[in-house]
Amino acid sequence: MSDLALTNIGTLVTGDIDRPLADADTIVVRDGKIHSIGSSVDGDIERVIDVAGATVMPGLIDSHVHPVIGDFTPRQRTLDFLESYLHGGVTTMISAGEPHTPGRPTDPAGVKALAILAARSFAKFRPGGAKVIGGAVLLEEGLIEADFAEMAAAGVRIVGEIGISGVKDPEQAEPMVRWAQSHGMKVVMHTGGASIPGSGVIGADYVLAVRPDVAAHVNGGPTALRSSEVERILDESEAMIEVVHNGNARAVGDVVRLAAERDALGRVIVGTDSPAGTGVVPLGILRTMGWMSALGGMAPELAVACATGNTAKLHGLDRGVIAEGKEADLIIADAPLGSEAGDALGALAIADTPAVFAAVVDGEVRFVKSRNTPPPVRNIQVPWVQAGGSH
Ligand SMILES: [Zn+2]
Repeated sequence: MSDLALTNIGTLVTGDIDRPLADADTIVVRDGKIHSIGSSVDGDIERVIDVAGATVMPGLIDSHVHPVIGDFTPRQRTLDFLESYLHGGVTTMISAGEPHTPGRPTDPAGVKALAILAARSFAKFRPGGAKVIGGAVLLEEGLIEADFAEMAAAGVRIVGEIGISGVKDPEQAEPMVRWAQSHGMKVVMHTGGASIPGSGVIGADYVLAVRPDVAAHVNGGPTALRSSEVERILDESEAMIEVVHNGNARAVGDVVRLAAERDALGRVIVGTDSPAGTGVVPLGILRTMGWMSALGGMAPELAVACATGNTAKLHGLDRGVIAEGKEADLIIADAPLGSEAGDALGALAIADTPAVFAAVVDGEVRFVKSRNTPPPVRNIQVPWVQAGGSH
């Protein structure tokens, strides 16, 4: 893979919640990995992008998508939506279950087969170059420990949202969750009001009884938990708490304030919870980071860390932070043309949607000038790429 350097970086956002900004203006990529971060380029680099003072941050990670197989969603009958999310700066998407699969099987054999198929399929299929972690098994009656061992060995890493499938009682879910976690899987639980007819209302008592890894969309999927329930989850459990675009925007601000008061911003992750009734939202992570900053009073670079490094750490992904040796999944972002803000972080601080100029995945430029965000203020050139095209 060719070498790449990004130079003249105005703001380098690391994705690390403990050290969210780096004092450096140059990133050198070799063999798809971040080779060095500093203030100069040493040696010959085949491709150099002068980012003209724009902002570079890790490719965003959407912690909550509901794909099926391929780049199509039956939920809103949309084609190429995953590739469209890449144009919203999202380079990794994590499934919280594939409930929209037409005729989704609910017997143990079918549940296993679907999870393994989705995991294997998305391991090979990269929409626009983006990475999708698919195959989040939805719990159904009859699954036994050996099933979780088999799924984990076949590449299934996630238990999808508990509460939207057949296993609803905490007593029934709890042993399955222990089996899944003992085989290295991460477990996601729906919280808040009912999402669609047939799903239930899930609060802190359920989270404390079952102890998932993620209390999903505490700001609503789409109906928010009460603040007192969010406080109990923060105070009495160790679960990550997720805020999503397809929930209650005001509650996003409340949740990040509650987490900040407890010095628990390292537990906050960001998703879209899409496709859903609320829709397909390519700019959902950018917009939610804006709400976290503008409504929650959170430094925008910390909101970026919640949507990158925090999620990568939870799922053991070798990306999501800009550090030497990590996978070179990066975005070049800026203030959108016409914004009161002067750069990408300034835009997030006032909940303007930043411009995504380009996305790099595994060291390759996947597009120049997002087809979905506004254009950037700065004039950035990538000599070898036609705007709107890929490398
Ligand atoms: Zn949900």
